[in-house]
Amino acid sequence: MNKTGTMLLASAVGALALIVPFSLSMYLAQMQGREDAVATLQDMADDVLQRADTARLQISDAIAALNNNPSGPPCSAERLARMGMLSGAFSHVAGMGRLEGDALICTTLGLATQDIPINLGKPDASHPSGMHFWSAVELPGLPGQAFTVVGRDGYAAIADADLGLDLLNHDSVVSLAFFIGEQRQLVGYRGVIRDAWGSRYHDQPIQFEDDGYLVVIRPSQTTDSAALAAMPTSRVAAKIRRSAYVLGPLGLALGTLLTGAVSIVARRRLSLNGELQAAFERNEFFVEYQPIIDLSNGRCVGAEALARWRNEDGVLVSPDVFIPFAEAHGMIGRITARVMEIVVQEAAGLLRANPGLHIAINLSSEDLHSHDAQMHMRELAQRAQIEPSSLMFEITERGLMSPEKARNVLLAVRAGGFRMAIDDFGTGHSNLSYLATYELDFLKIDKMFVDTLGTNAPTSLVTFHIIELARSLGMQVIAEGVETEAQRDILRARGVQYAQGWLFARPMSIQKLEDFIAQAGSGARASSTRT
Ligand code: C2E
Ligand code: CA
Ligand code: CA
Repeated sequence: MNKTGTMLLASAVGALALIVPFSLSMYLAQMQGREDAVATLQDMADDVLQRADTARLQISDAIAALNNNPSGPPCSAERLARMGMLSGAFSHVAGMGRLEGDALICTTLGLATQDIPINLGKPDASHPSGMHFWSAVELPGLPGQAFTVVGRDGYAAIADADLGLDLLNHDSVVSLAFFIGEQRQLVGYRGVIRDAWGSRYHDQPIQFEDDGYLVVIRPSQTTDSAALAAMPTSRVAAKIRRSAYVLGPLGLALGTLLTGAVSIVARRRLSLNGELQAAFERNEFFVEYQPIIDLSNGRCVGAEALARWRNEDGVLVSPDVFIPFAEAHGMIGRITARVMEIVVQEAAGLLRANPGLHIAINLSSEDLHSHDAQMHMRELAQRAQIEPSSLMFEITERGLMSPEKARNVLLAVRAGGFRMAIDDFGTGHSNLSYLATYELDFLKIDKMFVDTLGTNAPTSLVTFHIIELARSLGMQVIAEGVETEAQRDILRARGVQYAQGWLFARPMSIQKLEDFIAQAGSGARASSTRT
């Protein structure tokens, strides 16, 4: 990707890194605020249910207690005394009285007499249990005080109008209601209650928003009653705001942190990108050669060219850093071309003087998908007058992941008379069929497998299988990363011909390589190539 592209991408990712955590925190605040509101309403509804159910049971018990004692005139002093005692015993019952039809004919509150009954009118609600409810009843002599009258079997219990709902003075903006029976008859309430709300309830707990209110309705666990609690949505919004005050800064802080991280990474990338571009102009690349040794006689049969980059500050950047970076940013082709130029330029003399010696050049997958690399190589080889077989291409298994794409280049390399090796063998996941198809000369066993030799690791068996596989395909084996004599001895015993590693030599300059070859001797066995 080019600089502008990287910058655009970095800005986009940076913006996202800021926006996403913040939006997420706002979303969470919304969820939390609403959940909080619903939980509050549920608690209140349950409270209402508990109180109202208790009140109902008390009223029912009080009336039943009177029914157990039916003899005597309905409003006898004895009877009124008993009613007074019962209303004193039940906290929710303010008073009791006798009913005749829909009229109270006497009460413990001493307000009705048989001569002046209090007509209650038709009941507001009736329950299958035989209970009738009159709500918002005003009693003469007690103006401004509303009662709920509950009647059954000729007796009435007089309770606070809201069945104690007012006692729940948690929060005055919350509306509360208590319903009974299948018809969801409203027998007590406080605050704003819409008719439509009760009809949405069908025995299951529900919550919904309607007409500027968040509404929760909960059934009683023990009776057929239900309670409603509703809160203005402005209240819910306040709860959300409160959550946002906590979560928002957290989201913002996280976003800022992420954005900072993105910008640091982007700046590093941009600077590495720019530095690498400049490295071509400033000619900062050079090549080191690591000898490849014939295990049967210790002679040097060739060397692998390894790219090196000393940057402007004199720091040697590892190829494990700049090669993958160049691959990812479309610059590997230029590096390959540069390495080829350097190799042909500085090693041509050595190669001409030592027929049979080869220099191996690494190709990345990108190189395999364009003709540039091998065209370039052929051109250079001709100009420098070196045999194509003096040059070898190392192709990684990864580069052969899509063999159809690499096919043309591979065939051209073969036809050009260059040697070919499969590099890092065993570390990729490619189809093995290419090994036979392209008649590769060498198989390089990755250091990872060489490391297991002489240990009890099960992978060491895999190493032997790879050696066998190469033999059956008529390929020569180069073991990479040989560091110990023990490894060398095992490899030699298994019939591996070639090795490369610190045991023999580290990567070195071309002058050092020339000296090395002068000492160790050069030359490969005649059987080492196919061409
Ligand atoms: P590679 O192709 O597998 O190269 C072998 C690596 O193993 C080299 O690391 C070499 O220095 C190291 N090595 C050799 N013998 C030993 C040993 O006994 N012990 C240990 N620990 N290491 C040993 P280097 O030079 O750092 O290169 C790393 C990788 O960078 C190479 O792995 C290759 O994938 C890539 N690379 C280097 N130069 C080029 C190049 O010109 N083009 C391309 N496409 N890739 C390159
Ligand atoms: Ca290699
Ligand atoms: Ca390798």
